Amino acid sequence: MRPTGQLHLGHLVGALHNWVRLQDTHDCFFFVADWHALTSEYANTTPLTGYALENVADWIAAGVDPEKSTVFIQSMVPEHAELFLLLSMVVPVPWLERVPTYKEQQVQLAEKDLSTLGFLSYPLLQTADVALYDGRFVPVGEDQVAHLELSREAVRRFAQFFGDVLVEPQALLTPVSRLPGLDNRKMSKSYGNAIDLSDDAESVLKKVRQMYTDPKRVRADIPGTVEGNPVFMYHDAFNPDVAEVDDLKARYRAGAVGDVEVKTKLAKAMNTMLEPMRERRRALLEHPERLTDIVVEGSRKARVVAQATMERVREAVRLKY
Ligand code: AMP
Repeated sequence: MRPTGQLHLGHLVGALHNWVRLQDTHDCFFFVADWHALTSEYANTTPLTGYALENVADWIAAGVDPEKSTVFIQSMVPEHAELFLLLSMVVPVPWLERVPTYKEQQVQLAEKDLSTLGFLSYPLLQTADVALYDGRFVPVGEDQVAHLELSREAVRRFAQFFGDVLVEPQALLTPVSRLPGLDNRKMSKSYGNAIDLSDDAESVLKKVRQMYTDPKRVRADIPGTVEGNPVFMYHDAFNPDVAEVDDLKARYRAGAVGDVEVKTKLAKAMNTMLEPMRERRRALLEHPERLTDIVVEGSRKARVVAQATMERVREAVRLKY
């Protein structure tokens, strides 16, 4: 995850839930992608290290366990840059220009100059990030699937010249791999439509009240549509009381419930789920030096693996002296 701001609910249901689950079955590597953050934030790098530690606090609060998994910082493992450089020798530029997010983000973030080589080559750096650890599965949200497709092609292209030295990665999605934000676009820090994991109960309620619902339903007695309605997608994702959710859906379809009731119950369920995480986050951030220790130790462990991979790669490229 890029340390470009606070984590939000999209990160939680799109990625973190899978991270926590996979720790018991897989050898997991989770990292703060601070070089990736620079691709869009190069003009203001001051807040990045602060966000990095806050993001790690959120991961741990959500259940990531640095004893079970390797939690590290990308820029503390310079082998990421070395493998990226070698990959860049064989991957044609048009492959990167064709990645859909390349043009989309330039339009969405028009206030930033994203015509840099760093931004163009973002998915190739991601390829290196994953391949360094022989990553087979990458637990990401849906927006990253096209990047992983590029990664697979890049690994295959590398193999044409240097043999099967890297592993082809594959995306692992959660049931909610694209959480909408308050305005029904994808929830994203840069769109200002997010509910953050650090938001207090009052802000969650306020934001839920502003959420987009069925626009045809201007009065509570007009039957509404549940399918594709973000408020009900949230109920499905965050409200464990299935009977309550079914009742709300039935009454919504029949025009027998007001938006206020639907949203108040949603905010309550969300706050019940978020409160223990907020508590753990607060406690962790009281000792930032412990978080620093965790990522320094994690980066040391990650680097051992990354160095072994690079030994293999240098040999394959025949640049071993
Ligand atoms: P980023 O903030 O772009 O570094 O994203 C970090 C991870 O969170 C990636 O795996 C994204 O796919 C995932 N993610 C971000 N926003 C959402 C969202 N709205 N829904 C689902 N997953 C998301």
